[in-house]
Amino acid sequence: MEKISDINRSQSTSLFEKAKTYFPGGVNSPVRAFKAVDGVPLFIKKGDGCQIWDEDGNRFIDFCCSWGPLILGHNHPKVYSRIVEALQNGASFGAPTRLENELAELILKHNPFIEKIRFVSSGTEAVMSALRLARGYTGRNKIIKFEGCYHGHSDSLLVKAGSGLVTLGASSSAGVPESFAQETLVLPLNDVEALERCIAEHPEQIACAIIEPIPANNGLLLQELDFLKTLRELCTKNGILLFFDEVISGFRVAFAGAAEFYGIKPDLVTYGKIIGGGLPVGAYGASKEIMSCVSPDGPVYQAGTLSGNPVAMAAGIAQLSECAQQGFYQNLESKTKAFIAPINAHAKQKGYNFEIVQIGSIFWLNFDGKKTIRKSDEINPDMNMFRKLHSVLLNRGIYMGPSGYEVGFVSSVHTPEILERAAKTICDSLDEVYA
Ligand SMILES: *Cc1c(COP(=O)(O)O)cnc(C)c1O
Repeated sequence: MEKISDINRSQSTSLFEKAKTYFPGGVNSPVRAFKAVDGVPLFIKKGDGCQIWDEDGNRFIDFCCSWGPLILGHNHPKVYSRIVEALQNGASFGAPTRLENELAELILKHNPFIEKIRFVSSGTEAVMSALRLARGYTGRNKIIKFEGCYHGHSDSLLVKAGSGLVTLGASSSAGVPESFAQETLVLPLNDVEALERCIAEHPEQIACAIIEPIPANNGLLLQELDFLKTLRELCTKNGILLFFDEVISGFRVAFAGAAEFYGIKPDLVTYGKIIGGGLPVGAYGASKEIMSCVSPDGPVYQAGTLSGNPVAMAAGIAQLSECAQQGFYQNLESKTKAFIAPINAHAKQKGYNFEIVQIGSIFWLNFDGKKTIRKSDEINPDMNMFRKLHSVLLNRGIYMGPSGYEVGFVSSVHTPEILERAAKTICDSLDEVYA
């Protein structure tokens, strides 16, 4: 097997040196620092379709897609023109615009699970606000969170999972008071017994159970449908709101997210990523009754200077209009399956302990491929093989997110031809890594 030489990173290297003097770790979001993989982070200059170019002129097929938002790829002409059109009228007013109605109408029309929505500016903000709403609506303080699920960086949710049964939260970030963390009950995923016990031990204290119905921030921990159904039943029986954090899965596996994909109705939902067409948008939604608690209708305060920003709304409208087309998700899913099948077949035939886990257009490189992984502690923490594969892939023109715990995404503009080429490259790269 011919070894491909390392890509030139001289521009990225000098930009990163500069950046380190400005930002902690040289970045504005930690995973971007390439700490879990080799070399300095690539500074990206532009993207078009399913490709990106770095500052050194290297070109890559992009499977990171800005960590999920770009379901139509980079610089999609319809998104681009709606952004420009909106921008011509000004960037922000801090007053209502027609565009907010338009995006809300588009979402609610295709989503049977929520009746009202509120736009914010990030996934973190959506979750933080919806959590306050859950507590305000129920008058309860405790929440259930599942080990390995990421819900943004608000205080109550930065709580580390303990293994075993119910662990009283110990914060996993400095700066989160122990007293906050103690309101968060952390449970293992896919474990009905632990869930039943936790609920029994905290009668009428739990406001909500928050879960990524498709946990995709710590590997891809696909849950058994029965677990999710039981979670729904137990929540209903005990007056606990079921909170689906669909910041990744929303508009990704189906227009109305995992709720639609699995046919399970949550009480509270959050969106982010895809909803803003690449611009910063998040949202939370619920029934009219629950949403009536939100200010100014109700006592749960939540506000935002740039919430419902017209340029961001325009991008969301353009992107979600494409997603709402008949057959959009079936097409994306079948393309993704056709991309992954030959890679998994190759790994199996060669006897590599590797398998790509997939749902919809989300995939995860699992280097413990013989094992079905549903809980975060089942993941092998040795990411050495991922690290090697990541740099081989970069050298061969494929960009994956720089962490073995992160998932990859296929967009509507990854053509079958490009995916076939990428699959071949990934097979060659596996051969190089396993050689
Ligand atoms: C990305 C993500 C968040 C955080 O969203 P930000 O926009 O990064 O703040 C929250 N929950 C889930 C499930 C996510 O995937």
